[in-house]
Amino acid sequence: MTTDTNTLETQDKSSPRWTDLRRTLPQVLPRLRDLFVYAIGQVRIYQKIYPGIMHALIFWGVTIQVIGTAINLQQMDLFIPYLELPFPRGTWYLVYELAMDLAGLAILIGVAMAAFRRIVLRPKALETEWDDYYALVILGIIPIIGFTVEATRLIAASPPWAVWSPIGNMYAGVLRNMGVSPEMAFSLRDSLVWFHATIALLLLASIPFTKMRHLFTAPLNILLYPRRKEGTLEKIDDIEETEILGVGKVSEFNSYQLLSFDACTQCGRCEEVCPATISGMTFTPRAILRSLREAMDSSLVYSDENSNAELIGNTIPEDQTWSCTTCGACIYRCPVFINPVDDVIDLRRYQTLSTGKLPKSIADTLRNFERQGNPWGMPPEQRVAWAEGLGIRVLNPGEETDVLLYLGCAAAFDDRNKKVTKSFIRLLQMVDVDFAILGLDETCCGDTARRLGHEYLFQVFAEQNIDIFNQVKFNRIVTQCPHCFNTLKNEYPQLGGNFRVQHYSEYLNELSLHLEINSHDGNGKNPIFTYHDPCYIGRYNQIYSQPRKLLSDAHIKIVEMTPNTENSFCCGGGGGQMWLETEADTRINHQRLNDALQVQSDVVATACPYCLLMFDDAIRSKGIGDQIEVMDISEILEHQLSNSGRDNPQNP
Ligand code: SF4
Ligand code: SF4
Repeated sequence: MTTDTNTLETQDKSSPRWTDLRRTLPQVLPRLRDLFVYAIGQVRIYQKIYPGIMHALIFWGVTIQVIGTAINLQQMDLFIPYLELPFPRGTWYLVYELAMDLAGLAILIGVAMAAFRRIVLRPKALETEWDDYYALVILGIIPIIGFTVEATRLIAASPPWAVWSPIGNMYAGVLRNMGVSPEMAFSLRDSLVWFHATIALLLLASIPFTKMRHLFTAPLNILLYPRRKEGTLEKIDDIEETEILGVGKVSEFNSYQLLSFDACTQCGRCEEVCPATISGMTFTPRAILRSLREAMDSSLVYSDENSNAELIGNTIPEDQTWSCTTCGACIYRCPVFINPVDDVIDLRRYQTLSTGKLPKSIADTLRNFERQGNPWGMPPEQRVAWAEGLGIRVLNPGEETDVLLYLGCAAAFDDRNKKVTKSFIRLLQMVDVDFAILGLDETCCGDTARRLGHEYLFQVFAEQNIDIFNQVKFNRIVTQCPHCFNTLKNEYPQLGGNFRVQHYSEYLNELSLHLEINSHDGNGKNPIFTYHDPCYIGRYNQIYSQPRKLLSDAHIKIVEMTPNTENSFCCGGGGGQMWLETEADTRINHQRLNDALQVQSDVVATACPYCLLMFDDAIRSKGIGDQIEVMDISEILEHQLSNSGRDNPQNP
């Protein structure tokens, strides 16, 4: 396939104005939809039941009270003089009274739940600051005074509809029993109304200076956060010309990022799912965001002595940025769509490209990339040494194939993964797939370099690969590695490379391999299998069912680990973490292996070379190789096929 036919997006030939409009319109509608679903509907907040109910009671209670109060004030001609509101009257007035009463009750229940959670339950991920208490106190006082105002009104006027204000009416009964007469109620009422209004105005005035600012910043963030393809990082345009690479000072973050620091409510949901935090590292995405907001306030609001301080080493400890695996769990959990990965990568870019202050293991890995073009530091001419004698066609410029197999560095240089690649090749050969590889023309996809902050290397690798893809003809690129898959599919379009890319678990589902497999196990054993979702095909690309279907078609039943699918727990290898030296007691792969042991599995099936290595490493360091093993799905399929009597080419 040539450049023209490989390119999926057609060239836009219409006028710039229409082009702009066409590009903007599809963005406006999803943004508005997100605003309704996630800001007003608060769908992500309800993922957790207790805080979800608590937040809904306060949010809807306050919303109804604000609307009701605005109607009430307009009836006093406060906003628009001489505009008499015909609403609410008659039955609607009774409904209005009831709604306002229940809204006040909802706020009180919500505030009580919040106070109970912060003071008694105290979940680990929830940190309480002074403004949390301030918000609770002020939000609690307002409906209490409101009910007092209502009760004195009912005592003073004794209206026939008092039962439509049930809480106010009950409260009025209590006050009457305490000796409050209609005259006393009448005389108290004005002072209470002014007190009520003062506290309400105090709440309004304090919004910008307290966490309550999220009332505005959270919906704004949901409306405005940058929409990029899932799984992609922001490209540095004109990297050769750009003076500041990454972010060294808080003022260098873009406006969207600065808004997100303000929008963060410190709810801790990101922290609850972060594999680095859960595994005991000192890093938490919430703490990073809090530090960045404090730095932003200090620099952009107060302009104090820390205004121009470098973030790394001052606000954020040097080692913190390297703990993130870029697994994306936090992004998908945050109720206001904050993306801590973007911030971490910007900080890494500065460390990698501007200061060069890196942990030794990361510096060594990047040196391997620069010198040998792969993180293993192996001579590039050995990239296809493993393929010798396998009869694999190497595609030369101008030649054509159906499947272009993009192998990636793990398949080429890591001994354990070479075995997986051979299994996959044998599967393709069994069903006579027309496939070929690029041989020595293939270059690292650039995923790890990019996620370690070396955007320049990523762009060089990507451009080399795109150039070679454009010189050959193919119908699709198939990758074994989810990181290569995500990069080729979602990130290469940023550099003009638009190709049809499939992960092998998608592609194998199109073949009829399963028809060759019978349910006979072959050795009389029935091992328990579980499947680990790799983040870069799972969360970032929603490939959940395809690997599971391959296993079930091969008569493999799996028990699911907790968590799984979109909530799955990272293996610890992504974002360059595979190359980072970490403390033995904070290893993410050990944590994930525990999940597999919990369901008493004998075999962990996976579909990613990094996951395979991380599990392998955890199994070996725990010394439980006789209890559990990790296999790639290709290996499992090949095993099932050979047990079914299918021809198995010689293993060279
Ligand atoms: S980033 Fe999102 S999930 Fe994390 S603490 Fe802030 S608001 Fe909560
Ligand atoms: S991407 Fe994963 S490792 Fe990084 S901060 Fe988010 S949850 Fe933690």
